[in-house]
Amino acid sequence: MYARGGMKCPICGKPTSWKDNSFRPFCSERCKLLDFGAWANEEYKVPADEVPESEEFTQHPTTSIENEHERPGP
Ligand SMILES: [Zn+2]
Repeated sequence: MYARGGMKCPICGKPTSWKDNSFRPFCSERCKLLDFGAWANEEYKVPADEVPESEEFTQHPTTSIENEHERPGP
């Protein structure tokens, strides 16, 4: 039935019909909300994650360079 012109819900992978589906491309309102939540969550996570990561990124090269300098030469 849904094989012809059918599609899969991008969230749960369940076959869903495009016709008469107000939640398309999702199978249900739940999946639609889930997708929006995941998208909003990622959007929200990016700036919060960047702060500690960039701080660590600045610290790592310094440690690595210092280690290289402390190494006795040949
Ligand atoms: Zn679904």
